[in-house]
Amino acid sequence: MQTVTVNQNLIQSLKSPKQRLSPTQDRKKLTHHEMLLVALHSYKGQILSATEIKNIVIAKFPEVKVRCILPNDHSDIGNLRACSCVGTDRQLLVNVERATYHIL
Ligand SMILES: [Zn+2]
Repeated sequence: MQTVTVNQNLIQSLKSPKQRLSPTQDRKKLTHHEMLLVALHSYKGQILSATEIKNIVIAKFPEVKVRCILPNDHSDIGNLRACSCVGTDRQLLVNVERATYHIL
């Protein structure tokens, strides 16, 4: 009988899926590149440290994990998993010295 009850609950939950997305869930569709693009928009032309960049992105997107914000991935010293923006006109950052970036 216990099993039947569980199955009925499961069926009921499948019948009424929660389809409304909260603003937070919508934001999660943004790529890290897009988050940096949006957050750094008003800092174009400035020189910022990696820490400053992370703080700016976190302030704009509190739900993003700080370890997921990798300025290097969007600069000309991008690593193996770098963003596809590197080397294109979509590139966000130029590395000017260690952990310091020119916002494009
Ligand atoms: Zn990028």
